[in-house]
Amino acid sequence: MNAPDVARIKAAISPREFYRVELPGMPAPRRDTGWTSGGLCPFHQDTHVGNIRVQIDTGAFHCFSCGTKGGDIVTFAQARYGITFQDALKSLAETWGVRA
Ligand SMILES: [Zn+2]
Repeated sequence: MNAPDVARIKAAISPREFYRVELPGMPAPRRDTGWTSGGLCPFHQDTHVGNIRVQIDTGAFHCFSCGTKGGDIVTFAQARYGITFQDALKSLAETWGVRA
């Protein structure tokens, strides 16, 4: 199976839904747009909610404690699972049912 391209992935997957699944401890966003707390950072041994922030429109993320950051959910998947860009596209497509 060929992976869908990045534009299709980003159009099909809501960052808000994505982070709700990927960051189970994430508090419900208070607003429908913009940056919000991601709960506990999955990239370091986090004990303080609020170090990692996620942007629920674009999927950007940034941890102010360990410095891990990126501009979209594909970058998040790469960093989280230690996979390549292409593998991240495939994994997201499979998990979220996005067709090429
Ligand atoms: Zn972190």
